[in-house]
Formats: sequence, structure tokens, C-alpha cells
Amino acid sequence: MVRRIQPEPFRIKMVEPVSIPDAAQREEALKTGHFNMFGLRGEDVYIDLLTDSGTGAMSKYQWAALMKGDEAYAGATSFYALKEAVKDVLGFDYVIPCHQGRAAENVTFGSLAKPGDKIPFNMPFDTTRAHIFNVGAEPVDCVIDEAFDPECRHPFKGNVDIPKLEKAIATYGDKIPLIMVTITNNSGGGQPVSLENLRQVSAVARKHKIPLFLDAARMAENAYFIKVREEACKSLSVGQILRACMDCADAITVSAKKDPLVNIGGLVCTRTEDLYYRILPRVILCEGFATYGGLAGRDLECLAQGLREMVDEQYLAHRVAQVAYLGDLLEEGGVPFVKPAGGHAIFIDAAAFLPHIPQKYYPADVLAVEVYREGAIRGIGLGALAFATKDEATGETVYPKLELFRLAINRRTYTNSHMEYVAQSIVDVYKRRDRIRYGLEVGFAPAAKGLHHFLAHLHPVQF
Ligand SMILES: *Cc1c(COP(=O)(O)O)cnc(C)c1O
Repeated sequence: MVRRIQPEPFRIKMVEPVSIPDAAQREEALKTGHFNMFGLRGEDVYIDLLTDSGTGAMSKYQWAALMKGDEAYAGATSFYALKEAVKDVLGFDYVIPCHQGRAAENVTFGSLAKPGDKIPFNMPFDTTRAHIFNVGAEPVDCVIDEAFDPECRHPFKGNVDIPKLEKAIATYGDKIPLIMVTITNNSGGGQPVSLENLRQVSAVARKHKIPLFLDAARMAENAYFIKVREEACKSLSVGQILRACMDCADAITVSAKKDPLVNIGGLVCTRTEDLYYRILPRVILCEGFATYGGLAGRDLECLAQGLREMVDEQYLAHRVAQVAYLGDLLEEGGVPFVKPAGGHAIFIDAAAFLPHIPQKYYPADVLAVEVYREGAIRGIGLGALAFATKDEATGETVYPKLELFRLAINRRTYTNSHMEYVAQSIVDVYKRRDRIRYGLEVGFAPAAKGLHHFLAHLHPVQF
């Protein structure tokens, strides 16, 4: 069968050998890793789709830039290269490097939010949610209802529901230090937010004089989706669209391990000096001096170059098409997943894949175990284990609406042929799904709100 695949817009200059562990090695790895995908070692995995965070391949230009690293403690040349790239690509004047996205969240929420505060969101990413809880504040989800229907093909399922946002502002008033929108909405399936919606949110924020922040880890993919899905933006370049999105915001936090194409790094960028100085003291306390923020000079150089590369349209077209290709192959095999395919990942609907496993036995994580067993492929469960909360009043467990298993595609790292292997393995698991008759139970887990799934020891149980 002829398939229209988008070929890789790069060729291989250096190879990283990987091997496929056999069935016995996989069983052993599951046991020693406590059936938690975070417990596996890199060498136990053939195709690692745990996360697309910091796992991409740098370009030859980034490797060359690395040698330009200026390691001066203050005022390094490399910081100014980064500042210039941010200004050119994103338009912000004030730049704070951080060691990664959650560090940007720590300094932002630690500086601007206090106990009892509410943060209206489309939907926060898990580390973002944890940082909001950590300062005693709470996120208020205002994403459109379509986000919760895995079969709904809305083009911008990450959009903020404006009436929900207005209602949150009316309810919580001056308890709201900032509004935040995640682009793309990672936790909701990597779904984009339209430029029109960002402009509406920005207008609401301005009307109420509340700063608008973007969690912009996936801003280039979001801009690409806008180009191909939002009629009014068809003739603009991805770079122009990205700038228009940034123009809506007062500030952004960024995990540079995502779209900016580096293995480590993060950013806070602000429009005003006032906001910059409100956040900066905590950066010096937690990250490092203002001009390096926990990164080496060489990291700053690679990030500056990565910011310029992330808006390359051939690269983005391939990336999004590669994710969609994996989705097409899974769809042919009947595997249920969140539609349309997201920017960086396929989110398999584990509740529909394993409907006979009750949510309290973590079907998304059972699926992760079975996919690893089948193909030495590592994905991650994003369901009850990660997101269930306790109702403080009743003591009852509140389960998340979605029970997803995520396959995150690393940038410029795997080929379309790797995607075919992944799809085949998962379709094989799907064919034997009725025989998967066990659940997982948490043995040990640290008492850390919103974080225990990273460290939990799990074991199979019959129910
Ligand atoms: C990864 C991610 C973060 C956290 O960034 P880290 O670099 O992993 O700390 C925050 N928000 C979104 C949307 C992300 O994808």
C-alpha cells in the first residue's frame, strides 16, 4: 500500500546504537523498576517515548554553538546571544534563564502567588499544577468542554472557555494574581489554542488588569497548528504567528527541553521591567545569577540557536506529520486515541482500550506495562495514578475525566520506520486486550501532592 508519508528533513551524521532487550530481560526490568515506567533504565528500552522533554537531537549548528559558550558568571556573551534570540523570535525584552520549565514555574508562582490564590487556566501541566499547590494556591480549569471528549475533532481543543474564565474572575476577583494558558495543552492531549482564542483571553485579562502568562513550552507546534487550521492565519509564516501569540501575553514560562530543541533549559520572559524584578530575586535564590539561571554558557548558546530553529516550517511539518502518521497506523488497527493527533504525542484512550479494568486499578499504567512487554517501548500513563486527588471534605478519591497512555515523540530522533514498529506493537497488544486481566496497586509512594506517580512502587493485583 502506498502511503503519503512526510520524509525526514534531515539526515544522520552520528548514530546512537540501541538494542532490543529480549522478553526475559523485559520481565526482569519491570520487576526491578516496580512496574513504574520511571523505574526502567535507559538500556532496558528500545524506543523511548516516555517524554519528548530534553530527548531531541540537536542540529550541527547547535553543536557548533556549544563551543561558543562563554562561562562568565555574570553578563556572559552567551546570555546576550540568548536575549537577542528571544527578542527576535518572541519579542520579549526581559529574559530570565532557568534550568528547566518547572524552575520557571517555581520562580513565577513562588514570586507572584500566595496561599488561597486561584490561577485560571485552560489546563495546567502536571509540574505546573504541583507548583501552584506548593505555594498553597489552586488552578481553576477553564478549558472548553470539547477537551474532555476523546473522539471530538475540534481543531483547537486547548482553547479557553471564555464564559468559564469570566465566571472564575467574577468568583475569585483579587485572589487571582495571574491567568495562564498552556500552548499546546499538553495534559489535554497536546491540543492547540487558536490565535483568536488567545486574543480573547488577552482582552479579558487586560479588562480586569490581570497579567496573562503563557506556558509556552510547545509554542512553535501551537503556531504551526494555527497556520494549518485557522483560516485567518493561512498566509502568515509560523514565525509571524508565533509573534502574534506572544503579543497577547505579559510573560511566558518555557521548558526549553520541548520546542526550543535543547536537552536542558528553561526561560521566563517578561514584557515589563516591573514583572522582571518581581520574579528575579527568587531566581537568584533558587537557580543562579540573573544571566545564567542554573545553565552553563554553552547551554545558553544551544538554546539561542534552538529558538531560531524551532520555527523552521519543514521541520515542523515533518514533526506534526510523523505524530499523525503514528496516529493513522493506530487508527487502522482500531486503537482508540485522542483525536485529532496532538503536536508532540499520541494519547491512547486507555479507558476505551481496557474498559474491563476499573479506573482505581490504573488502566493507563497497565497499558504502559503491556506495551513495554510487547515491544520494549516506553510510554507513560497519564490517568488516575498521576491525577487522582482526594476531596478534602469527604475524603473520597476524585478521578480524572481522562485515562490516557501517552507516546511522546522525540524531536528529530526517531524515523517513520520506528513509528511503524511502535504502531505494530501496540496493535498487537490491542488484539490481545481481553486477556489483560489484572490491575496495578500502589505499594510505596512518597507523600507529595501531585508528584507520587513519578516515584510510586506498583505491583500487579487481581480484582
Ligand atoms: C514539560 C512541560 C513543563 C515542565 O517543564 P520541565 O522542563 O519538564 O520542567 C511545563 N509545561 C509544559 C506544557 C510542559 O510540556
